[in-house]
Amino acid sequence: MTDSGRDSMKHLEEQLGAGTYYKRNLELVRGQGARLWDAEGREFIDCVGGQGAANLGHANPQVNQAIRDQAEKLLVCSELFYHRERARLLENLERLTPSSIQRFFLCNSGSEAVEVALKFARLATGRHEIVAAMRGFHGKTFGALSATWSKDYRLPFEPLVPGFTHVPFNNRQRACDAISQRTAAFLVEVVQGEGGVRPGTLDFLLDVQDRCTEVGAMFVVDEVQTGFGRTGRMFASEHFDLFPDLFCMAKSMGGGLPIGATGVSQEVASRLFKLAHSSTFGGNPLACAAANAAIGYLENFELPQRAHKLGTQFMQQLRSIGSPRIREVRGLGLMVGVELKEKSGPYILKLMERGVLALAAGPTVIRFLPPLVIEESDLDRVVELTAEVLQ
Ligand SMILES: *Cc1c(COP(=O)(O)O)cnc(C)c1O
Repeated sequence: MTDSGRDSMKHLEEQLGAGTYYKRNLELVRGQGARLWDAEGREFIDCVGGQGAANLGHANPQVNQAIRDQAEKLLVCSELFYHRERARLLENLERLTPSSIQRFFLCNSGSEAVEVALKFARLATGRHEIVAAMRGFHGKTFGALSATWSKDYRLPFEPLVPGFTHVPFNNRQRACDAISQRTAAFLVEVVQGEGGVRPGTLDFLLDVQDRCTEVGAMFVVDEVQTGFGRTGRMFASEHFDLFPDLFCMAKSMGGGLPIGATGVSQEVASRLFKLAHSSTFGGNPLACAAANAAIGYLENFELPQRAHKLGTQFMQQLRSIGSPRIREVRGLGLMVGVELKEKSGPYILKLMERGVLALAAGPTVIRFLPPLVIEESDLDRVVELTAEVLQ
């Protein structure tokens, strides 16, 4: 394509898209594993990882084959009917999620998985108050947005869903004080993603879990970003032995295709009724087939273990950069944040100029979410270039 052709493509997105996104001046055309190529043939190491949706790597051969096979047979099959791939997926989720989680509502995105969890928590408790964490991110539909912390996202859309309060993340006392007999649910990420890559502490997570049990509130874990191998375990809840009542998944669940799910305990399931929630595309054969292939690949190639090993090395190497601009390097597995003492945006752009795509997480954090299949040598290169731009 000519330069002017490419310019007019970008122009179309700018003029005809709703305009709700910041965009980087890059037109991507192809991916393979943890590499991406733009329309001019430039190659990038991908540490954006589809904001957490590309754990399996781009053009994953097994996921692609499953998508091709299923597309040949049947795309549309709502939950009015049975489908083999859906049944297999439910079985996979039951096996892999914490043992307290036994049944699943299939949906299409992370926000939707959170909406469903909030609705089901109301049904299970007959209460409506929700406690969430400061700096938490749960999506931008009305229910999920009410739980999200950022005022920039929330205030323009008030009035939101009533009954939400926020407590400081990792503050056991404040959280336990806020969770009462009136609380329907405490909703939390195990590692906060958008809020700056902040791992929860063991004490905090176990104490809020106990407090929820004590007062009959639902303990709701949002693993939309931490799920499917990202943090070094299939789910981050495993690091802390969590037993949630409700469990939200999406992002990498479909190996890149849109799909989400809300897991529920047997007790929550017993309070649900027919059509308490529904979704036209929920549990569609294509997304289910992709999810089964993605789960198979994660397990066969031990990607959670790989994320643990590479993530630990990567964080050590980043810490050894020793740039005076760095305040802290933190994370879990291959969910890694470098907090700076200044704004991270300019450095993310400099990394892009040098061939590394990274993300922000709040104003001062550089976030790395590479596909879990990334080569060790690519991560070495990312460390080198990060050191170079931060010197
Ligand atoms: C991305 C994200 C969501 C929202 O997911 P969408 O698919 O964008 O709706 C919810 N919770 C967490 C923790 C996320 O990272």
